[in-house]
Amino acid sequence: MYIRDTIAAVSTPPGNGGIGIVRVSGNQAAAIGNTVFKPIHDGGLASHRFYFGSIINPASGEVVDEAMAVLMLAPRSFTREDVLELHCHGGWLVVETVLAIVLKSGARLADPGEFTRRAFLNGRIDLVQAESVMDIIGSNTEAALQLAQKQREGLLSKRIDDIRLLLIKVLALVEAYIDFPEDDLGDTDINLIRNSAGQALDIVSQLLGTFEEGRILRDGVSVLIIGKPNVGKSSLLNLLTNENRAIVTHIPGTTRDIIEETVIINGLAVKLLDTAGIRHTDDLVEQEGINRAMEKIPLADLVLFVLDASRPFSLEDQLIYDALSDSSVVTVLNKFDKPRQMVVPEHIIINSQVEMAACSAVGLDDLRQAVCNHFKSKTTVDNREIAAISRSRHRDALVSAESSLHRFAVGLDHSNLELLAIDIRDALEAVGSVTGQTTTDEVLDKIFSSFCIGK
Ligand code: GDP
Repeated sequence: MYIRDTIAAVSTPPGNGGIGIVRVSGNQAAAIGNTVFKPIHDGGLASHRFYFGSIINPASGEVVDEAMAVLMLAPRSFTREDVLELHCHGGWLVVETVLAIVLKSGARLADPGEFTRRAFLNGRIDLVQAESVMDIIGSNTEAALQLAQKQREGLLSKRIDDIRLLLIKVLALVEAYIDFPEDDLGDTDINLIRNSAGQALDIVSQLLGTFEEGRILRDGVSVLIIGKPNVGKSSLLNLLTNENRAIVTHIPGTTRDIIEETVIINGLAVKLLDTAGIRHTDDLVEQEGINRAMEKIPLADLVLFVLDASRPFSLEDQLIYDALSDSSVVTVLNKFDKPRQMVVPEHIIINSQVEMAACSAVGLDDLRQAVCNHFKSKTTVDNREIAAISRSRHRDALVSAESSLHRFAVGLDHSNLELLAIDIRDALEAVGSVTGQTTTDEVLDKIFSSFCIGK
């Protein structure tokens, strides 16, 4: 439900900074501005002008801070409501004090994502664009940012609208025949229905085909580092992250938990997962770590299978290899600075192998290259006007639309018009939920609650 009260929040990140911005939206915004802000030259705040002046505590008349203020009257604002922004000094106490004064003057503290939610509810942006706002803020790589910007510009929304228009056309035809049952579905109309539904299905399938790429661009990839204790997994992780988050140790099995760290490799966000040393053990704590590592194998987009090249291939190496049968694997022959003892048995199939010394960074570039090669087709920054889906919410909705349209195509031969109309309505509902036309309040709550306060 949309209560049209006036909301306020700090829109800059927590902590101290150069400036801090308190944002206010709603029909009290102008009145609050005139109460708490005194421009250096007398007169009120005109819309879309930046004023220099002071924030005043109306209760005491005290000057709280020197600040800038801008009022943006509806509908020319982010939320399409009256919006006031107060730009003050960025100390957390200053910003919190200004917010407290604004709240005392008639605003309520905004919920997470409430500004963006209002922009959506007032029709300024659709749901895909609202999500893209969050993706823009959360982007860690240029490719992720580009994808989010394309969604904000409405490329994906346009494709979704194309599907909806086709389906609405089909539904109108089908319903016309339901209303006039004495008319038979003529060949021309059947063909029109078939073609339009087919075109809609083609776009749905094409968009579903972009999910893997979109997901990787938005979320990055997860790479699991696996191998028996002491082969150099933690050293490898440290090398890739240039930090000492993982404990590097001589004692086998000391890195018992999963360690996660995100690094950017050639423009690709890579979430590295280091695992407890996998081996047969009676030690319960270590066993727990091993179980966690095994559980992560199917979740990883790529596995770095680390072997100690200075030792012979062992049964433990074999057991890990066996667990990787369904995974994409880059085999890392580590400790290549030492005399080589490892002879990889013939039955071990290695598609991609890197020889390196994690302790001295020899071979690091080869490793980076091997990881990138694996995702190459999915990571090239694409300047074409592509619309890609990047969230499982989009994918799930389109999968549902796809199955309704498949049912429709099969049902068309039997011409049960009532059932055909149901299939099209289901498809329309699923597609409309992507851009927000048919999204329930609960889903909206879920989406916007993952935003930060002030956004
Ligand atoms: P993990 O148990 O697989 O995480 O292995 P660690 O990263 O803790 O490394 C185990 C031991 O091997 C440590 O003493 C490391 O310094 C050493 N080590 C790791 N990589 C190399 C390498 O490339 N060459 C040599 N000579 N020693 C290494």
